[in-house]
Order: sequence, then C-alpha cells, then structure tokens
Amino acid sequence: MRALCWHGKSDVRVDTVPDPVIVDPTDAIVKITSTAICGSDLHLYDGYMPTMESGDILGHESMGEVVEIGAEVSTLNIGDRVVIPFTISCGHCFFCEKTLYACCDTTNPNAEMARKVMGHSPAGIFGYSHLLGGFSGGQAEYLRVPYADVGPIKIKSGLPDERVLFLSDIFPTGYMAAENAHIEAGDTVAVWGCGPVGQFVIQSCWMMGASRVIAIDRVPERLSMAQEYGKAEIVDFEEEDVYDRLMAMTNGRGPDRCIDAVGCEAHGTGSFDAVLDKAKAALYLATDRPHALREAIMCCRKGGTVSIPGVYVGLLDHMPMGAAMNKGLTLKMGQTHVQRYLEPLLEMIEDGQIDPSFVITHRLGLEDGPQAYQTFRDKEDGCIKVVLKP
Ligand code: NAD
Ligand code: ZN
Repeated sequence: MRALCWHGKSDVRVDTVPDPVIVDPTDAIVKITSTAICGSDLHLYDGYMPTMESGDILGHESMGEVVEIGAEVSTLNIGDRVVIPFTISCGHCFFCEKTLYACCDTTNPNAEMARKVMGHSPAGIFGYSHLLGGFSGGQAEYLRVPYADVGPIKIKSGLPDERVLFLSDIFPTGYMAAENAHIEAGDTVAVWGCGPVGQFVIQSCWMMGASRVIAIDRVPERLSMAQEYGKAEIVDFEEEDVYDRLMAMTNGRGPDRCIDAVGCEAHGTGSFDAVLDKAKAALYLATDRPHALREAIMCCRKGGTVSIPGVYVGLLDHMPMGAAMNKGLTLKMGQTHVQRYLEPLLEMIEDGQIDPSFVITHRLGLEDGPQAYQTFRDKEDGCIKVVLKP
C-alpha cells in the first residue's frame, strides 16, 4: 500500500510499504477513506518529538471502512464505517475504567522507555513515535487498529466523512480543553492559538457558558476564522503586547480561564524568553518552546485555571511556577481521552449543533502529502486544516 512515512526533519515521503495484517485477535484492519494532518504531526515533522525512526508511518486522525476483523472482535463487522480515536486503549485497565483512556496502562509496548522519561507510560498513540508505542499511523491506505472493540465508533447515519472525521482528535481535544478550564457562567476565556485545535476550543468554550472568548494568534486567516466563525474577540500577538491587551480588556484582572492551544513550538515577537527558546531548541539545548504557556500563566487572573491541550515534550525552561503558585492557579492538561467524548460529540454533530468541517481548507490525495505537510507547517496558501483522501 501507499503511506506517508517520516524520514527525518522536514522529510515526509510517500512510500510503498507492506499492507498491515491482523496481529492480535482483537485487531481490525480499516481501509482509510479520510485522514487529516494535525498540529501534533508538525512536532514530528519539525524534529521536536524524539524516538521517531526512518520509515515510520504517520497519522492519527483517520476513518474508513472495516475490511478485516480478528477472531475476538465482537462489536465491529466488515463493511462498518468507523472513526478511529488517536488514543489506543484497552478499555478495562485501572485508567480506562476511570475513562482516562489516554493514560491506558496496557497499550504501549514500549512502556519501559516511557516510564524512564515520564515516570509512567501513557497509552499508545497511532503514528506518534516509538516512545508512545511505535504504532503505524493512518496516513495510509490501510491501518491496523488494535483493541478494535474499544476505540472506533461506528457511523451509521451516512454523514459525510468531513463532518465526523475530527471526532478522532481535534473536536474532543478542544472540548476536553474547555472542560479542563472549569469554565463558569460569565467567565472570560483567553485562547492562545487559532489553529484547528484552538478553533474547537473556542466553539467548546461557548458550549460551556463562557461570556467572552478572546483568541490570540498572528496568522490573519486563523484570526478571521476565530472572529467570524468563532465569534471571538481577537488579539494579534505580532501587533500588540498580549499581556497589556488582555489586562486592558479585563480591567486589569486578567482572563478567568486561559487555554494554551499552541504547545511546544510557540513563536514570540522579539520577547527575550522566546528568542532564548528558539536559540536553545536550535542547538538541542531545550526540548520545547513554551512562550505561550508562560504568557498564559502570567495573564491568568488570580485563582483562575490554565488548561493545556497543547503538546509538550520534555523539560520546560523558565516556567513561572512562582506566579502560578502565588496566584493560586489550577493547571490541567493532557492528551485527550478521546473515547470518552465520541458518543456525546457524535450526537451533537448528528443534531446539527456543530459541523466540524468548517476548519478544512485543503482536500488532497495521499500523494500530495509531503507538500501538504510543508504548506500546513508554513501556514501558506491560507492552510488551516488538511484532509487527505487515500
Ligand atoms: P497548529 O500548529 O495548526 O496551530 C498552532 C497555532 O498557534 C498556530 O496558528 C500558530 O500561529 C499559533 N501560535 C504560535 N505561537 C503563538 C503564540 N505565542 N501565541 C498565540 N498563538 C501562537 O496546531 P493545532 O493542530 O491547532 O494544534 C495545537 C496544539 O495542540 C499542538 O501543540 C498539538 O500538538 C496539540 N494537540 C494536542 C492534543 C491533545 O490530545 N492534547 C490533540 C491534538 C493536538
Ligand atoms: Zn492530532
């Protein structure tokens, strides 16, 4: 089959690789009909995430048709249309029972490596490094789906791929980020990053009763989408100082809830910490560029919440923990427990409360993947979200 494979920094190729086969009796094989490129994939593309190996198949936002099932799969049948969560979860360990699916104890075969780095191993993730399992991803014609009874959700309603595909990741991620922010009616929420995740964070903040949503980015078409589709007030961090602007907008108190939908590759315009991050990351002296997270902590009102859906990799420099502690902030974060949100969010889509396809700007074939990675990373051609049709 054809698949998008990682070969190093800024080097993604379409390779011909062996078709996946059933390995465990709980596996299914899915013929992929739509698969998206995520901001998380950019951390692989840009070389921030360690333990990628040349030839690894990328992709964790996929859906398609079940073409083969293992002997123990009981909930799926051949021909079912399914969306596949990016988290691989067993469904019955201590953590899955608590619906902490991204913390599943069972599914990372390289758990020992992860334990050394993080203290404990999170769940395996499709196409997301050997540290997180070394599973082949879904930017390919076919995908092996382990624990097929636990992950995939069947789409019975005939809704087109584009409306349901983002149940695999970014819609639940935006929703869980808003939940983690503990929004109360009347709150002002500031959201750093207007990428695909930021857009779903904004939608979800309104669902949870926010009174004001303020969105921060520098890419004009992303800010416009936040303003026009998301009904957010916008701040361009290249045009104005974010702290000063947010204080002016909130009478000096700061936003009640701050959400970092940027993650480990934040940009900063000349601010000392951001320049230092960039230099250190270039020299492999730092694992992350956490400028947005520092800013969120500094801006958040006393007693407020900082929710972090943005992905971080390692040991973060110069975090204002003193500010977080003395202001009494709550910090909540994590990879999304996708399985927890599949049914309620699918219901919202079926009811017509939201059509997640609003973020899609580029629809391409698998063969266009390498160029699509570059266009998405460099924010060229108005690119906000790419969907590939293998
Ligand atoms: P993206 O790269 O398309 O968007 C990031 C946006 O942040 C860009 O528009 C960029 O211009 C903006 N940005 C950069 N520096 C900024 C700053 N200092 N202030 C404000 N905005 C800034 O990525 P995405 O797909 O939207 O994903 C966002 C983050 O969420 C990534 O870190 C991704 O890995 C993470 N993510 C996490 C989960 C999870 O389970 N927690 C799931 C999916 C994605
Ligand atoms: Zn993703």
